[in-house]
Amino acid sequence: MLNVVIFGAPGSGKGTQSEFIEKKYGLVHLSTGDILRAEIAKGSEIGKIADGLISRGEFIPDDLMISILNGTIDKYPTSKGFIFDGFPRTVAQAEALDSMLKRRNIRVTLMLNIDVETNELVKRLLNRGKTSGRSDDNLKTIHQRIQVYETKTLPVIQFYDRQNKHHRIKGTGTMDEVFADICAAIDSVYPTKTNV
Ligand code: AMP
Repeated sequence: MLNVVIFGAPGSGKGTQSEFIEKKYGLVHLSTGDILRAEIAKGSEIGKIADGLISRGEFIPDDLMISILNGTIDKYPTSKGFIFDGFPRTVAQAEALDSMLKRRNIRVTLMLNIDVETNELVKRLLNRGKTSGRSDDNLKTIHQRIQVYETKTLPVIQFYDRQNKHHRIKGTGTMDEVFADICAAIDSVYPTKTNV
């Protein structure tokens, strides 16, 4: 089973690249941001908690996020593997992901860290904000999201470094170029008959 953690700051292109990976490798794409936005659209209890936090660029509490993800994995018992997009965002979430996969006798295969410098992230997110309709794609919240990323999420890199699973991907360049680097990283650790 191929399980990919796609990691990067807001605006690094995780969502776009996850869709490419999903198609090429036949994996299930789990985006915690998309899951939360769907809950907000439904007006569920989770959605009510998430709504204000997302608009302010703050994180949903680890316990809640972990239990949402745990429940979501169970919806795909026959999956060939998962792309975890937007999770883990804290070291506690990274530890929880390892345990929840271990209980199912599977594990993270590799972590792809899409690296984009901050000025470029802000530019991309402001641009996306013109059409995304997202409550968090405005300058104030963008700065907050990047700050939270730097303090809470960056330490997750060391977590996967220690497991030798961290692959840095240059996130600038065309979408195709970034995807080519991603495929090279995946194929180096998970060669399959169709990809060799
Ligand atoms: P995203 O679509 O991945 O940019 O996520 C949008 C927002 O959803 C984030 O800024 C957080 O407020 C919230 N969120 C998504 N994933 C997580 C997570 N793993 N832990 C905490 N909050 C999250």
